[in-house]
Amino acid sequence: MSLEKAIARLNLEPKVLEPGHVWLAGAGPGDPGCLTLDVLSALAQADALVHDALVSPKIVAVAEQAEKFFVGKRGGRLSIPQGEINALLVKLAREGRKVVRLKGGHPFVFGRGAEEALVLTRENIPWRALSGITSAFGGLTSANIPATMRGVNGAIILATGFAAVSDDRPDWAALARTGQPIVIYMGLTQMADTVAELRAAGLPADTPAAFVENASMPQERTVTTSLGTLVEAAALEKVVSPSLIVIGGIVSLRAELMGQK
Ligand code: SAH
Repeated sequence: MSLEKAIARLNLEPKVLEPGHVWLAGAGPGDPGCLTLDVLSALAQADALVHDALVSPKIVAVAEQAEKFFVGKRGGRLSIPQGEINALLVKLAREGRKVVRLKGGHPFVFGRGAEEALVLTRENIPWRALSGITSAFGGLTSANIPATMRGVNGAIILATGFAAVSDDRPDWAALARTGQPIVIYMGLTQMADTVAELRAAGLPADTPAAFVENASMPQERTVTTSLGTLVEAAALEKVVSPSLIVIGGIVSLRAELMGQK
């Protein structure tokens, strides 16, 4: 059966994107196969698409009828201040546009989606959030690292490694003490400090660790190492953004799952 036919058999009743409404949608980690049908439908309906750098051009291209607004930001460097993005969303909605605000991953996971939603609420603009696969889960999946495994971990921590506001900075020592795996977003720039704090809290140097770079994209790469050699491995392997840092016993399952042990 074709994909089109399979979708038709779902008998979906697509949610309708009304003029003057804003949908905050997640595009997933990159691979168009990770899109949800709701987000695909949003792209088909939008007449204004406001998107980030982390969204793949293939996905943006689906909304061929929409006017595109690129508000890219990467690695914590804002090319367009958040206030201007908020103002753009409000302006487009007030003009009666059907607005889709498309972000990488999940809009409510380290994506400032909630900040934008708060502004829209204050401005009385109707909005809804549409899930996307967050890069931690998309990345672990494509790297063959299980997020949980009985006997290994009973929890998994998603943390930001880059906090512009000090209140958002994770308490690394407290996270280390849980003994649970940690997936770090935006972790490259402050990696040395993060590793030092985790080590100081007693996380052993031989704790398995990995970088998952460009997860789910054609140029995806996984570099496995350990907490004690994480910083050196990043330099040696020239790990670039976007990349996730995964720390914990789940990483060592990868080799076994791939038949390398
Ligand atoms: N809302 C997004 C996260 C935005 S923060 C989500 O839910 O995934 C940006 C960080 O996400 C990057 O610094 C990187 O750590 C991670 N990231 C996003 N896409 C990625 C990808 N394809 N591969 C690896 N990491 C990715």
